[in-house]
Amino acid sequence: MNQTLTMTFQNSLEFAQQLDVADKLSRYRQEFHYPQVNGKDVVYFTGNSLGLQPKRAQKFVDEVMNDWKELAVEGHFYAEKPWWDYHERLAAGLGKVVGAKPEEVSVMNTLTVNLHLLMVSFYRPTNKRFKILCEEKAFPSDQYMLQSQVKFHGFDPKDAIVEVKKRVGEHSWRTEDIIDKISEVGDELALVLIGGVNYYNGQVFDMKSITQVGKSVGAYVGWDLAHAVGNIELKLHDWNVDFAAWCSYKYMNSGPGNASGIFVHEKHLGEKEIPRFEGWWGTKKETRFLMQPNFDPIATADAWQLSNPPILSIAPYLASLELFDQVGMDALIEKQQKIVAYLEFILKEIDKEVDSSFEIITPKERGCQLSVFLHGEGKELFDYLMRNGVITDWREPNVIRLAPAPFYCSYADMYIFGQILKEGILNS
Ligand SMILES: *Cc1c(COP(=O)(O)O)cnc(C)c1O
Repeated sequence: MNQTLTMTFQNSLEFAQQLDVADKLSRYRQEFHYPQVNGKDVVYFTGNSLGLQPKRAQKFVDEVMNDWKELAVEGHFYAEKPWWDYHERLAAGLGKVVGAKPEEVSVMNTLTVNLHLLMVSFYRPTNKRFKILCEEKAFPSDQYMLQSQVKFHGFDPKDAIVEVKKRVGEHSWRTEDIIDKISEVGDELALVLIGGVNYYNGQVFDMKSITQVGKSVGAYVGWDLAHAVGNIELKLHDWNVDFAAWCSYKYMNSGPGNASGIFVHEKHLGEKEIPRFEGWWGTKKETRFLMQPNFDPIATADAWQLSNPPILSIAPYLASLELFDQVGMDALIEKQQKIVAYLEFILKEIDKEVDSSFEIITPKERGCQLSVFLHGEGKELFDYLMRNGVITDWREPNVIRLAPAPFYCSYADMYIFGQILKEGILNS
């Protein structure tokens, strides 16, 4: 699809604006707040880091503030959206985003915390089967999480953590290398835990195949979906994934540091014997307030909840999910493929007009993000872009990451970015 599209693209404002007119999602731009630079809405490429604020988020937060003001403790049961089961309102929408049944998802805590909690259930090493397979240079928090878990269980990360490397000279991982490594580690493998979309190069892993092979050697398979949720198609239930977790402030637009989501496959639900750190919000609702000493797990992923949830924080998440529900992942992905292809086209056109050269290190298995190696350019170019209203992010050595979120980025933004990029290079 990308190739046929690329052939018909043009690097002009008129052409970009035509694409915007034809874009069914263009009206959703007005659902978001944009930072201003030089009196104009920015071109926002960092939805993979912190999504823009949906305008309706304010209303959802105000509603909770108001209920708290007027009802105080009674808000738990008598608010318009009662707090005691407020989190359940997110499950159906989230289930659609990640390809899960509503009972397989829950919202709680933050991402790294949830990964630790899920490791209690799904990393249960024995002397024979104790290894964890992950990608090399995983997001640092995931590396620290894995290392500390392994040490907690008395193993040495050097022995227990198996990193799949990229081949020399290549920028992405090969599925066959991951699969070979899983087979090689075989019955020593306790867990596969990989970031479903790599934060650095934007690669989308073949979660279906990797999960299948991981399960076939008897390991648990989990995914960190920080960069995948709200970005690419996920079918966690059908892929037979054991567990997953994600943050909601990237493509899910829920607000800084906001609550994380978890997925636990149906087959693990309602088990009393599964090891798990537990709290009162995981026990059955019917008997929770009897304050009895025995824990009776809710038969959903909510069993992993410990505390009563922070309502003020999940309110904007619910607002954002309402938008996802209106648009649907299919439409978002359709626009995403086209706008990313257009961005790629623009980069290649500008590349022809300037001396330096860009190398796109994101493979064709991609979602929203293009990671671009700027040969011959330095951080000054990044600073120039920021000063001129293009918000991107910079990673050593010389990589900018561009993620045009389909919800709120326009085709005209891609054209404008290309022009500012060209000026920045020519002026440097
Ligand atoms: C963004 C991100 C995180 C962030 O973790 P928090 O616990 O939300 O601070 C963790 N892992 C990956 C892969 C990420 O992309």
